[in-house]
Amino acid sequence: MGSHMPVRSSLSRRGFLAAATAAPLIHSSSALARVAPSATKLPQRVCVVLFDGFGPEYYEASPMPTLKAWAKGGFYKQLKAAMPTVTNTQAAGLCCGVHADEHGITGNSYWDAERDEELFMSDPNLLTSATLFQRAARFGVRSALVSAKQKTVSLLKQGTSYAVGSQQPPAEAAKKYGTPPDIYSADVNYWVWNIAIDLIKNHPKFGLLFVHTTDYPMHKFAPEAADSRAHLSKIDSFLKEAAEADPDMAFIIVPDHGMNAKTTVVNLNKALMERGTPVKIAMSAERDQYPRHHGGYGGTAFIYLNSPKDADKVIKSLKDIEGVEDVLTRDEAAKKHRLNPHRIGDLWVTATKRVVFGHSMKKREELPKDYRSHGSAHEQDIPCFIHRFAGKLPDKEAFATNVDMAKFLYQGT
Ligand SMILES: [Zn+2]
Repeated sequence: MGSHMPVRSSLSRRGFLAAATAAPLIHSSSALARVAPSATKLPQRVCVVLFDGFGPEYYEASPMPTLKAWAKGGFYKQLKAAMPTVTNTQAAGLCCGVHADEHGITGNSYWDAERDEELFMSDPNLLTSATLFQRAARFGVRSALVSAKQKTVSLLKQGTSYAVGSQQPPAEAAKKYGTPPDIYSADVNYWVWNIAIDLIKNHPKFGLLFVHTTDYPMHKFAPEAADSRAHLSKIDSFLKEAAEADPDMAFIIVPDHGMNAKTTVVNLNKALMERGTPVKIAMSAERDQYPRHHGGYGGTAFIYLNSPKDADKVIKSLKDIEGVEDVLTRDEAAKKHRLNPHRIGDLWVTATKRVVFGHSMKKREELPKDYRSHGSAHEQDIPCFIHRFAGKLPDKEAFATNVDMAKFLYQGT
C-alpha cells in the first residue's frame, strides 16, 4: 500500500478501507485489515446498521432469535451513546468515527446566529469531518445509504454512490421498491430493509452499506408492548434475510440512543423568566423534522444568555428547577462530552430521567401517558453487535462508546 500517501487524521490506508480494496491486507495491528487473506479474494462487504432508538430494554423484551444468536457467536456489548443522545449527533459519530468536537453535529438543531433562529442540523456543510463513504470512495469502494429519515441522507450522503431516503426517494427507487410508507409508521422500516436486502443480494458493487431505520415505533411503543415486539421480530427476520443474501457480508449493528417514558416537559425559557433570570433562548437539542416522534422535546437543552454576565445567576436558577440534572458551562460541556463548543450555547443542561425540555405552552406540563423520548444521559445505554466479521473481533474492554465501534472500521492507522 502507498505509505507515501498523505494520511489525514485517523484515516488509514491500511484499515477497513484498505480492506475494502482488492489488495491484500498487511497491517498486523488492524483488526479489519485481516479480512481479506489473499490478493485474489475480494474483501469482505460490510453492512452498518444504525438501529434508531434500540435501547437495551427493547432487545431484552423482544423475541429476536437472529440477533441473539449473533450476540452469542460474535461481538456483543452494551456501549454508551455520545451526548446528547439525539439521532444526528450519533449518526454523524457513527459515520465519521469521531466525536462532535470533530464532526460538529452537536444536536438535531442548533442556533443560527446569522438568522437568529433555531435551525435543523441536517445541512451537510455543518459536518466537519469526512464520512465513512468519502473514505471508502478514496479506495474505490462504492457505498449505499438507505434511511427511513431523509435528514440522514441530507447530512451524510457525501461520498455515497447511491442514497435513498424514504421521504424523497429517487424516482427509480420509488418505482422499483414501491411508494414509501408514511415516516410515522413501523412499515417504513420494512421498506428500508427491503431495499437493503436487494442491494446486498443483487448489487455486489456496493462494498459498504449503511442502513438507518426510524425510532418512531420506539417513541410509540414500550418495549413489552405487542406492537413493539411485532416490529422488532420483523426487523430480526430482515436481519436473517440480509445475512443470507450475502453469506460473506459482515454486519455491524449500532443503535444511536435508547428510549424512556417521560412524564413532564419543562419550558426552561418560561421557568427562567419566572425566576427573574430570563435568557435569550433555551432550545432542545432534539428538535428535528419529525415532531410527531417527540414534539421537539428532549433531555438536553442549549441555553443562550442575553449577556455573559448573567451566567452565574442563570446557573443558580437552573439548579433550582425540578427536572434539571446537570448544568455545565459551554467549556465544561465541550470538554466532558467532546463537543464543538460553538454549537451548544453558553450553558448546557440535561434532564432527569422522566423529564424533557422544549417549547411547551406552559412552564411545566404533564405529558401524555404513553409519551416516550430521549436526549438525556439516561438513554446512553445501547446494545451493539458485530456479526460474521472475518477478522479478529475487537477487545470488548477497548470499546466504551458507539464511536469506538465506528473507529473500528478505520483501525490500523
Ligand atoms: Zn434516534
